[in-house]
Order: sequence, then structure tokens, then C-alpha cells
Amino acid sequence: MIAQPKASHFIDGANVEDTAGVPIQVIYPATGAVIAVLHEATPAVIESALASATRAQAAWAAIKPVERARILRRAADIIRDRNDTLARLETLDTGKPIQETLVADWPSGADALEWFAGLAPTMTGETIPLGRDFVYTIREPLGVCVGIGAWNYPSQIACWKSAPALALGNTMVFKPSEVTPLGALKLAEIYIEAGLPPGLFNVVQGRGAVGGALVTDPRVAKVSLTGSVPTGQKVYAAAAAGVRHVTMELGGKSPLIVFDDASLEDAVGAAMLGNFYSAGQVCSNGTRVFVQRGIKDRFLSRLAERSAAITLGDPLEPATQMGPLVSATQRDKVLAYVSTAKAEGARLVTGGGPAALEGYFVLPTVFADVTDQMTIAREEVFGPVMAVLDFDTEDEVIARANATEFGLAAGVFTADLTRAHRVIGQLQAGTCWINAYNLTPVEAPFGGSKLSGVGRENGRAAVEHYTQVKSVYVGMGPVDAPY
Ligand code: NAD
Repeated sequence: MIAQPKASHFIDGANVEDTAGVPIQVIYPATGAVIAVLHEATPAVIESALASATRAQAAWAAIKPVERARILRRAADIIRDRNDTLARLETLDTGKPIQETLVADWPSGADALEWFAGLAPTMTGETIPLGRDFVYTIREPLGVCVGIGAWNYPSQIACWKSAPALALGNTMVFKPSEVTPLGALKLAEIYIEAGLPPGLFNVVQGRGAVGGALVTDPRVAKVSLTGSVPTGQKVYAAAAAGVRHVTMELGGKSPLIVFDDASLEDAVGAAMLGNFYSAGQVCSNGTRVFVQRGIKDRFLSRLAERSAAITLGDPLEPATQMGPLVSATQRDKVLAYVSTAKAEGARLVTGGGPAALEGYFVLPTVFADVTDQMTIAREEVFGPVMAVLDFDTEDEVIARANATEFGLAAGVFTADLTRAHRVIGQLQAGTCWINAYNLTPVEAPFGGSKLSGVGRENGRAAVEHYTQVKSVYVGMGPVDAPY
């Protein structure tokens, strides 16, 4: 058990174990080896996490924001100091190559802690003059928040949710994905080491039922989920019963539109980043790559060349560019989509099957001549499978790009500045890029429209989702009652 944590859960500042919970095996996707065994939270564990978060919240909210910020900044520094060790653990948990986890996962988490630490003390209310009387507003924390994570960016998700929650005076009970439970436990330890009072960030492990128990608890004011659309629909509905606040970061089938005047190398590079990074397990991926017909052949030939050169292998090896998928289940699901694409008449350009390696590897795969009706153009694959579609005109591509129930992200590559903004203005997506793809700095709001989600993470927009406004009317004169 090379990655066995001290205990399955972290509650009230301490490691907590309850072996009565159903076991969760943590598997290193590059070998299939069991690297840790944890236990699902029992009702007693869930109760103690919620009770601890509830107890701790009022005192935390009463602390000056600048003092809360100082603790988060210390935690960000600890993360950066330990980045190498944390990246290695993230690689073991997810199978993502170390060259990615060193620069993308915990570093982005540390950025979120630092950024929300900087923002929280600047959050002031407003004064609204009403002649003699006036109103002032206070931005108050929501209370106990529940965070539920997906397995693709487990530690980044834990940071992106807890940073604004804690900075703005809330507490959090976080449930990582049962597939990748390790990073959040490290974050909980780091917070305590940085001086966070016990109970503010509790981690409980488990599958959907544990998440369900958290979401419906009357003490919970807010639920932030990162996951698939079907899970989002269930969690949103469950949260609605208690009229809870929600943030839903769900799936996508995002368009990446390449016009014929675009820089070809940049567009090919972005399409690869937006389909092959993290072995394609990124929610905002541009999995429908619309290429204007005039550059189609040149685009595909450079894409095939560069994709076939991707180095797959041991994720802990610094030269490895693509690791395995997170689990055997995910690999099988992706390979089934590849078979369906072939059966439906998509033209295989490169890849198209498992890699000849131990572990859950799938070759970087490109399909051309994909049509809007094909399954790989409609459903989220969540693997290294790119669908390239042809288009002729701007109006046509906008209509086709929007013809999806998802609305997470979109990208446009063109040298024509006016066209870039005109097209982006018409795309139905929450997170967009012009001549770039999949860059998600914590300064920028991130999230989706349509079935892809509700609310935004990161940026100032996140403040709206972890606070509520109290409006206070101040009467300055006699009360004018007609009775
Ligand atoms: P999932 O929906 O299977 O699970 C997400 C989380 O929800 C897990 O922790 C799971 O245990 C929990 N869960 C499942 N059922 C639940 C229930 N009934 N009540 C409460 N919690 C429940 O998703 P996944 O397979 O872990 O992740 C992949 C999906 O996440 C993809 O669809 C991807 O697009 C999406 N995703 C979205 C974003 C984003 O920011 N928009 C980011 C990453 C991943």
C-alpha cells in the first residue's frame, strides 16, 4: 500500500477511521495495483463531520477577513513547498503524468487559496441613501457548505471549492470522488498545519449515497458539485428540497472552431491540448473540432503527425506525456465510444484502440469526417478521442456548435479579430477562449450554461455563490404608523 493515508476521513482537525464502512480500493491506473484501502463514511462519521462543521462556522465567520486570509495564504505556501510530493500522490491517485500534475493540479489549487485570500478582505457592502433613512448591505457567509468532487482534478477541485468557501467565512464538508480519495485528505492536513481551526474543512469518503446524505442534511446551506450531468440533476433536485444554494460544474461537448485564416500550428496544438491533456478527461475539452474546409487536409495531416508522436507510458516518468485513463471502467467506456464511432462511419485518422501497455491506456485518437448526428459528436466521451467536423460558413458553424444540450466551453481560432468576438458572442457556453484553449486561471470565472451547470467557480463571480446579501434598513426618524 504505497499511498495508504493515516485514515479514511479527516474531521474536526483529526484523522478518523471507521472500518465498519464499505471498503474503497484506490487503484493506480498505470498498473492496476491497489495502493490504498479506505472505508466509506458510516452515518456516524457523516454526522460527526456535519456537526463539526456546524459548530465551527460562527466563530470563523466572526474573525476579521484579513486573518482568515492569512491562514489560506500560509496553506498556499505549504502546498507550493510540497508540490513535488503532492504531485506524485496526485499521479498515483489519477494516473495523470507527473509532467502535468507538477504544473496543473496542486499549483492551480494553491493559486485559488492565494487569490481568494486576497479577495475576501476587500468584500464590502453598499450604503443606499433614502433621504432621512438609509439601507446598508452586508455580504454574509452561507454557513455549512458541501463540496462533492469528480475524479479528474481531485485536488484542484477540493481547493477550488474550499478556497472561496473558507475565505468568505463558511465551513465545508468535502466528499472526494470514491475513485480518487487521497488528495483532499492532504489538503485537510495542510489547512490545519497552516492554522485553520478544526472543523472548518472536513473530508469524508464514500460513493453517491454518502454524497446524498450530505446534500439533504438540514444543516447544509450550499452544495457545490463537480460531476456528470445525470449526477448533477440528482444532486440539484435533492438540494432544491431544502432550497439550498448550488453550484453545478457538469459535463460538456464543447466546440472548438478553427477558421481557415488561423495559425495552423497553434490551432492543432490547442485541439490536442483540448482533447489529450489528462488523457482527455477534462470537462471543458473541445471535443467537437470544427475545421473550415479549406484547411481540413493540412490540419488533419499535422494533427495526425503530432498526435502519433505523443509519448505514452509510466506516468511517474518525467518524459511521459499521456498516462492511462483513471479506471478500467472509464477505459472500457471510452473504447466503446471508439467502436461506435467506427461503426457509425467516422474515419479513423490515428489511434483507435488500447495502447500495448499495462494499465488502462487508450491511444490518442482522432476521427475525421464526423457528422453532427454521430454519437461521438453528441455524447461526452471523457477520454483521448477527438472528433473533427468540417464546415463552410460562419453562420453554419455557429448554429451547429450551439446544437447541443451542453454549454460548458467553446473556442475560436482565427486571425480576424472582429470575427473572433462576433462568433464568441453568439456561442452558448460559459467559458470561452479566443486563439487559446483550456486555460483556466483562478482569476477568471469558470462554469457552464444549459445542461453543463449553474453558478461559477473562481474569479469574483464565485463570491456570489458562497455569500448572501443581508440588507439592513435603518429608520432615522419617528415611525409613521396609520393606526
Ligand atoms: P460523477 O457524476 O460520476 O460523480 C461526481 C461525484 O458525485 C462523485 O464524488 C460521486 O461519488 C458523487 N455522486 C454520485 N452520485 C451522487 C448522488 N446521488 N448524490 C451525491 N453525490 C453523488 O462524475 P465523475 O465520473 O466523477 O466525473 C466525471 C464527470 O465530471 C464528467 O461528466 C465531467 O465532465 C464532469 N466534470 C465537470 C467539471 C466542471 O467543472 N464542469 C470538472 C470536472 C469534471
